[in-house]
Amino acid sequence: MNPPDWYVKGRPHLWLPYAQMKTAPAPLPVTAAHGCRLVLADGRDLVDGVASWWTACHGYAHPHLLAAVEAQLKVLPHVMLGGLVHEPAARLAGRLVKLLPPGLAHVFFADSGSVAVEVALKMALGYWRNLGHPERRRFVAFRHGYHGDTLGTMAVGDPGAGFQHGPSLGLETLRVDLPRTIAERAEFDHLLSSHRHELAAVIVEPLVQGAGGMKMHDAATLEAVARAAERHGVLLIADEVMTGFGRSGRLFACAEAEVIPDIVCLSKALTGGMMGLAAAIAGDRVYDAFYGDDFDLALMHGPTYMGNALACAAAHASLDLFETEPRLAQVAAIETHLNDALAPCRKIPGIAEVRVKGAIGAVQLTEMRHLDWLRRRFPETGVFVRPFGDVVYLTPPFVIAPDELAQLTEAVNRVLNEWSRL
Ligand SMILES: *Cc1c(COP(=O)(O)O)cnc(C)c1O
Repeated sequence: MNPPDWYVKGRPHLWLPYAQMKTAPAPLPVTAAHGCRLVLADGRDLVDGVASWWTACHGYAHPHLLAAVEAQLKVLPHVMLGGLVHEPAARLAGRLVKLLPPGLAHVFFADSGSVAVEVALKMALGYWRNLGHPERRRFVAFRHGYHGDTLGTMAVGDPGAGFQHGPSLGLETLRVDLPRTIAERAEFDHLLSSHRHELAAVIVEPLVQGAGGMKMHDAATLEAVARAAERHGVLLIADEVMTGFGRSGRLFACAEAEVIPDIVCLSKALTGGMMGLAAAIAGDRVYDAFYGDDFDLALMHGPTYMGNALACAAAHASLDLFETEPRLAQVAAIETHLNDALAPCRKIPGIAEVRVKGAIGAVQLTEMRHLDWLRRRFPETGVFVRPFGDVVYLTPPFVIAPDELAQLTEAVNRVLNEWSRL
């Protein structure tokens, strides 16, 4: 069947993400999405194993999300937050604060995860400047970390994780391995101790490093990072853009380690996959450093669409669903299934490891071969799975039915067996 007219005419003008436009497999034309299914222009539907970069935790077109955005659309789609404020944003700020550990009480809205991380980095730099320590400008970041695609966030991301390195823009980063062993923890502690006078903050993706390859670490490692930061007076930024809202098993990954960061970044599943919204949420200690009679202390930032009312309405509806539907129990069931059903992949030649955490299943290849073949082959088997780097992963919507989830894990086993024989 021929692709639709809009595809033929418009697609050549789309510059697509992370793509060599000359050689990338043709993107699939999607005409609708509902539940855990993507409907294609040729009438096929695919079980979605990605949830649109981990956002669509309730599946697509959940009636409660649609109704909330429709209702908001009729009343007030958007006004700026400069000099104005509206109920969806104010109530959402309060609602997020209630879900987070005590003290994390100051919500700065942004429109994407990268911008929320930029804001968090600026908060950390401004914190030290306002306290009279402008020399504390360096960040500690972890190998395999990913914090966004803007130039500032790239400076704290790992260029080796498949994302090109940008100019550091004056941001200096000490990049180290996550301290997984006792010896590494002592080394990490020593690093913070010896550099403390120039360090602004440590930035970490708690428990799961997402786009850097679905690398996982345990709560004790996260706790060791947090304790070292605390001991040496360095701020801790938890980038929960990927892990936030249930993906790792808890509502927030930090909760598993009982770590209380100074700043938390949220986005991705915040609106249940409906639209762009993000937040950098600061603790009292950070907020208080900007609070005073002197205007020069203020945080100078303000995305045009920050706190968009439609997006806030979607976020409220998403939080409602976490309260009224058994999302975290669904994540636990997905984890059990992924553990069982991905285990046979370990025996496939060319597979180094299988990792599972919450609703994330990752099959680590020893090296990425035939990436474009893999990306073409999965849809042929009735699923949408989009490997990156040297990892084939599943991050389905939490509402996925057992037979759909089995379809995904069967496809991964089958396609990787085929791949191993190429
Ligand atoms: C996706 C992601 C970001 C960037 O979010 P965007 O909305 O794509 O800008 C930042 N940090 C983490 C951990 C992410 O997974």
